[in-house]
Amino acid sequence: MSHPTLPAPPRSLAAILEAASDPGVRLESLTRLVTSDPSFTGAVLKIANSTRYRGSRRDPITDVHQATMRMGVRTLRNHALCHAARACASARQIQGFDLDRFWEESLQRAVAAELLAEQIQGMDPQEAFTIGLLMELGVIPLLQQAPERAAEWMKIRTSQERLRNEQRLFGKTHTELNLSLAQDWSLPESLALPMAFHHEPGRAPRPLQLACRIVGAAEILAAVMSSDDTRQDLERARQHVAPLLERPSTLDALVGILGERVAEAGELLGIRVGAQPTLEDILQKANRSLVDMNLSFEELVQRLEQAIKEKDALAKQLEERNAELRSLSVTDALTGLPNRRELFRSLSAELTRIARHGGGIAMLVADIDHFKRVNDTWGHVFGDEVLKAVASTMQACVRSNDLLARTGGEEFAAMLPETDARGATSLARRVLSRVGGLELTSPRGELVHVTVSLGISWIEGPHRGPLEINAISTQLYNSGDKALYRSKQTGRNRVTRAPEALPWAIPRAA
Ligand code: GH3
Ligand code: MG
Ligand code: MG
Repeated sequence: MSHPTLPAPPRSLAAILEAASDPGVRLESLTRLVTSDPSFTGAVLKIANSTRYRGSRRDPITDVHQATMRMGVRTLRNHALCHAARACASARQIQGFDLDRFWEESLQRAVAAELLAEQIQGMDPQEAFTIGLLMELGVIPLLQQAPERAAEWMKIRTSQERLRNEQRLFGKTHTELNLSLAQDWSLPESLALPMAFHHEPGRAPRPLQLACRIVGAAEILAAVMSSDDTRQDLERARQHVAPLLERPSTLDALVGILGERVAEAGELLGIRVGAQPTLEDILQKANRSLVDMNLSFEELVQRLEQAIKEKDALAKQLEERNAELRSLSVTDALTGLPNRRELFRSLSAELTRIARHGGGIAMLVADIDHFKRVNDTWGHVFGDEVLKAVASTMQACVRSNDLLARTGGEEFAAMLPETDARGATSLARRVLSRVGGLELTSPRGELVHVTVSLGISWIEGPHRGPLEINAISTQLYNSGDKALYRSKQTGRNRVTRAPEALPWAIPRAA
């Protein structure tokens, strides 16, 4: 007998899911697919502009390519998946089943899974979030097929014997349906198997058992938020979730953060959520029976204060860790400068801005001269020291609005907003003189000097014609690099300007 299933996801989303499952997919082709779905495009822009992906930047992202670049393929796939799941599940109403509540609880599971993955090393928090959101999806086709059992299902859904009860009611379990849904949607095993085996981690292959355990624990943790019997559910979380944590006592703190993040995530994903209970609410509800046990009022207050203090400390720690991860993906580890990817990201944003509001921009490209000799003569470790010294010297030359990046081995590039060829040239002279004046001491005690060769390119004048941000970014950089090559050919330790300003409109043949 074939399984009951959900309607197929909208075609545009199915195409994104399929494309994103190809590890070699190009961001450009994904961008094109995203643009073909207006509602998903809106969702992607909203997410890319959220504090998580926007970091400290002020300008909003209005361009889908930038947004997908910011998010990366996996995050994009996860959001397409969430979007598809919601479209499919909402296709048919089920009498007696509260779909809004279903999604609110799914979001609680998703955030709980993300939080636990952040705490327990070994699972990608993004992936955990997605599984959390999808791990009950199989319930929908179960109930669509037998809507008259909806009320009864509501009663057994948090029971210990849940799978057996579902088998009895429907002849199937939500986990079996999860598995066939995941197959229909060609999801990778890293998502499919935890969706199927979070109640029975032992049935998953060894490398995915931790993921199954984490999302299974997330379900238990999330239940505390919407519980009818808070004390029982909190007790269950202490039994089954706390032991997975490095410090079991952080469980209360996690409950507190969960509520705050659910509200935030709901806003971001457009899932309607009610007011989430605060840690105080939950502990008070759970502790009511402790009052009956004659705990003094002071003892109660003390416990609550302790938990709140821990929650704040933990929230800060998590935020720090997230900031660290964010900065790792945009920063070059050796010099601490932004990396090439970050340079191009900023360049797209800046070009988009000046295309609309006017203004010029220049690019300075730099390459250390005869750097191979430095390595060959004094070794790589000293070579690294030289790179760091050049990086900080150049950083000291640029303005705070400029963005200096390490684009490759001994290559750097600076994006210079509101700068023309003259301004860029005077910056270049400063760089030549300060780098040339650096006095480095080799491991053998010799005085070492290095020089750099520089190239300048720039764009000026109002923007006309179609705006091809990526093509223009590349052209601007390449034109500076070509000028740099001239500097190398004509003797090094000098600056060369491109022959003329780069036009906004890129010739078709280029
Ligand atoms: P030119 O003046 O023509 O630029 O000569 P060059 O020797 O600087 O250029 P080339 O591109 O031949 O060599 C670059 C050298 O930079 C080779 C590579 O070993 C070195 N390099 C690249 N990345 C690093 C790094 O991270 N650390 C160190 N120490 N060396 C690096
Ligand atoms: Mg080079
Ligand atoms: Mg070089």
